[in-house]
Amino acid sequence: MTRFYETHSPEETMALGRRLGEQASSGELLCLNGDLGTGKTVFAKGFAEGLGITEDVVSPTFTIMKIYEGGRLPLYHFDVYRIGDIDEMDEIGYEEYFYGDGVTLIEWANLIAELIPKKAVRVYIEKPEDGPDDTRKITVTELTE
Ligand code: ADP
Ligand code: MG
Repeated sequence: MTRFYETHSPEETMALGRRLGEQASSGELLCLNGDLGTGKTVFAKGFAEGLGITEDVVSPTFTIMKIYEGGRLPLYHFDVYRIGDIDEMDEIGYEEYFYGDGVTLIEWANLIAELIPKKAVRVYIEKPEDGPDDTRKITVTELTE
């Protein structure tokens, strides 16, 4: 099932993330794609809030992954933008997270497409070429049995 959203501010994108975070269940995996500066990290911040995480979420660009405990479920926040080689994911031990009991959120997931389980929720954020600077089109696709 695919849902289409349009947001007009970072707050609205955060609110969408928050809603999905509130509904997230153990083992869930979300792939976030979209150009630099479209709002993947903004979405992630809202998502973490929805899980009840109070710690400030920052993009783990240089560490690839950061764990946030203290919410309803642990959040494994990946940003694979700077990954050089897919082997780096093995070194991190990604399987423990992707197939674990927490919730995984991956910015730039398309860069590691071959590692993404089929059941993943896909979130695509797009900044339309024309229109106001703060407009984002957000597409959320999940597999439904
Ligand atoms: P990414 O992680 O995709 O590279 P960020 O979330 O770090 O992007 O940055 C998104 C930027 O776009 C922020 O500066 C944010 O304030 C701005 N922005 C403007 N409008 C929106 C919107 N509707 N949704 C999300 N971010 C927005
Ligand atoms: Mg980011």
